[in-house]
Amino acid sequence: MESASQTEKNRALVIGGSLGGLFAANMLRKAGWDVDIYERSGHDLDSRGGGIVLQPDVVKVFRQAGIDTVHIDLGIKSRDRTVFRPDGTVQSKQFVPQTQTSWSLIYTTMKQAFGEAHYHGNKTLVDVQQDDANRRVTARFEDGSEESGDLLVGADGNGSTVRQLLWPDDKPTYAGYLAWRGLVPENEMPPVARAGLHGDFAFANNRGSHILGYLVPGENNDTREGHRLYNWVWYRIADEDQLRSIMTDTNGRSRGFSLPEGTLASRWRQHLKDDAAQLLPPPFRDIVTATKEPFAQAIRDLTVDRMVKGRVLLVGDAAFIPRPHTAASTSKAAANALALADALEEIPDDVDLALERWEPEQLALGKFLHERGTHAGDHLMFGIRPNRA
Ligand SMILES: Cc1cc2nc3c(=O)[nH]c(=O)nc-3n(C[C@H](O)[C@H](O)[C@H](O)COP(=O)(O)OP(=O)(O)OC[C@H]3O[C@@H](n4cnc5c(N)ncnc54)[C@H](O)[C@@H]3O)c2cc1C
Repeated sequence: MESASQTEKNRALVIGGSLGGLFAANMLRKAGWDVDIYERSGHDLDSRGGGIVLQPDVVKVFRQAGIDTVHIDLGIKSRDRTVFRPDGTVQSKQFVPQTQTSWSLIYTTMKQAFGEAHYHGNKTLVDVQQDDANRRVTARFEDGSEESGDLLVGADGNGSTVRQLLWPDDKPTYAGYLAWRGLVPENEMPPVARAGLHGDFAFANNRGSHILGYLVPGENNDTREGHRLYNWVWYRIADEDQLRSIMTDTNGRSRGFSLPEGTLASRWRQHLKDDAAQLLPPPFRDIVTATKEPFAQAIRDLTVDRMVKGRVLLVGDAAFIPRPHTAASTSKAAANALALADALEEIPDDVDLALERWEPEQLALGKFLHERGTHAGDHLMFGIRPNRA
């Protein structure tokens, strides 16, 4: 006679359908689970292709989700790492080839791999209940509906409702600086910017200012020359009052910690141009000035001491937000998902034991990245050297 575990598949509820949720859902399905994603947004998420350094764990998730990583272009290769001085002279240039991709490319590829049938939009989680005896977990949504499963994955990002419900004391904190960001079609790069930046991974530092940039895939993930975008990220110190003002959009609405393209108030648009003229070497000054719709993200820190409670777990930004200097927040979400599938495949009959095995390494990875990113960011922005004592 077949046991229940042989006839019935385990079911996972994944809360959040961005990269962390899509990685986890694809990997859980690969491990033999039935998986449904519940995403707050009612439409496709879109970042218009903000850049992400392509890391090995993301490629590994792609492969394990059945994506042909050999024959499709996953990003754009940069050649040199060039560091400019504020006056525009080159401080260093090293041949360090690296692949940069976009948030959109990863999102659309992962979403296509998962399919639409079990991806549910317009579903905002409001409550989680666990039945310890039966090891079942129930999610309640804003529309009053409920879903139950054997596991609930909180992939609901830095403001995670799952975390707020189960670990209310763990909250992100503002790191004291923000990232201004922008995308410029490569064929619209001003001549000085094109000559200095095109094809490389470029950087420039100044007092309280750190900027970097590289090419990323363009509209519809187009990696062909002439169709790509130049992506720049400029870190600047801002106190909490300035941050609040920057994050207040053209309609006077507060956007919290992330201001999308097309919503930056004109006074901050002008401020950005003035600062660019004062602080940036000419190639970066010109690319920032040529950007039609700059956007902004506050840099925040988050660490947790636990990622599992019963049958509920946290992945991606819901658990740890490493500073972007690590170029690792997306790959950390991928690593969480890969390890989760491995643990559940290794111990298919004991989910609790699998989670117990999964958690310590994920906590260690999150803490390591947090520490590395904090040291890098505080040094770059505030000149603080890490205390190695
Ligand atoms: C639109 C967008 C654009 C981004 N662009 C970039 C980029 O260009 N470069 C970069 O490095 N990083 C970007 N990121 C961040 C990057 O995706 C994350 O750092 C990393 O991939 C881990 O993401 P995550 O899935 O854990 O969290 P997030 O990407 O924050 O996703 C969390 C998801 O959970 C959903 N959610 C939140 N609360 C609820 C709830 N109560 N119920 C249901 N769903 C909920 C959100 O709508 C969101 O889709 C972007 C994120 C988003 C959402």
